[in-house]
Amino acid sequence: MTDFPKAGVIGNPIAHSLSPKLHNYWLKRYGLSGSYTALQVTDDNLETTIRALPDKGFIGANVTIPHKVSVLQFAHHVTDRATLIGAANTLIFKEDGRIFADNTDGYGFLANLKQGAPNWDPKSGPAAIFGAGGAARAIIVALADAGVPEILLSNRTRPKAEALRAEFGARIRVIDWVQAGTMLVDANIVINTTSLGMKGAQELKVPLDDLRSDAVVTDIVYTPLRTPFLVAAEQHGCTTVDGLGMLLHQGVPGFERWFGTRPEVDEDTRRAVLA
Ligand code: NAP
Repeated sequence: MTDFPKAGVIGNPIAHSLSPKLHNYWLKRYGLSGSYTALQVTDDNLETTIRALPDKGFIGANVTIPHKVSVLQFAHHVTDRATLIGAANTLIFKEDGRIFADNTDGYGFLANLKQGAPNWDPKSGPAAIFGAGGAARAIIVALADAGVPEILLSNRTRPKAEALRAEFGARIRVIDWVQAGTMLVDANIVINTTSLGMKGAQELKVPLDDLRSDAVVTDIVYTPLRTPFLVAAEQHGCTTVDGLGMLLHQGVPGFERWFGTRPEVDEDTRRAVLA
């Protein structure tokens, strides 16, 4: 066993993950001993891997697709926000053998907005969300927690949006996918949580005629950084925030717990991760 703390990211596939670049950049920047590696883990190996990591010197791990939900069953303590979201992305291995699970995706989403659109006030108006997948769950919980008065939600598969409404309450209004553009009339923040706009995928095509030019528009897709949706919103006069910051900020709480220093997300961090 090594005498420096180890952490990593568990997923499958995992080669594309930017998390090792991010955490190793921070370790170097703050002169800390430690390592952070990508761990490719199949469903069948998930439990064995998680149980074996502490003996190998691991003090924690990030968790990504497809293990964010199933990992909860191995945790001894799950934070309220991870319980609400129904998924975890950050694990802490305690010295007494217990596993602590948290979800920092919603935190990362809000911290990115605070940085990129500091004038946005969550309480000042409705949010419009495209998509009702795993990321949307975390974002809905974060927005509700931050005091957003109404969440307009549209998803290609409408029953999934209805299910989120049933779970998270009347603050959510479901809008049919073919009428998604109508959500933009009142929204002072618009969020794409679908995978549309990703390199190689179709674009999110929505008429922006009704979009308020003082609205903040953010896309959690970050390959490319400027998605066609963000470019169109920018041309409309909106403040736009790209999705890379969400990824960077969601890593902050885990890094701080594992390595003892709260890292900064700034231009240098972005450059290091994109290099
Ligand atoms: P997910 O659970 O698989 O959800 C995918 C969402 O995209 C669903 O709402 C799905 O609608 C929608 N979608 C997919 N293809 C579509 C199409 N052709 N037309 C309309 N809607 C379509 O995925 P996720 O985990 O929520 O992630 C969604 C995206 O966010 C991914 O691109 C992921 O890389 C990105 N992400 C970024 C961050 C970050 O830190 N920036 C964090 C998490 C995720 P249906 O329900 O109809 O299938």
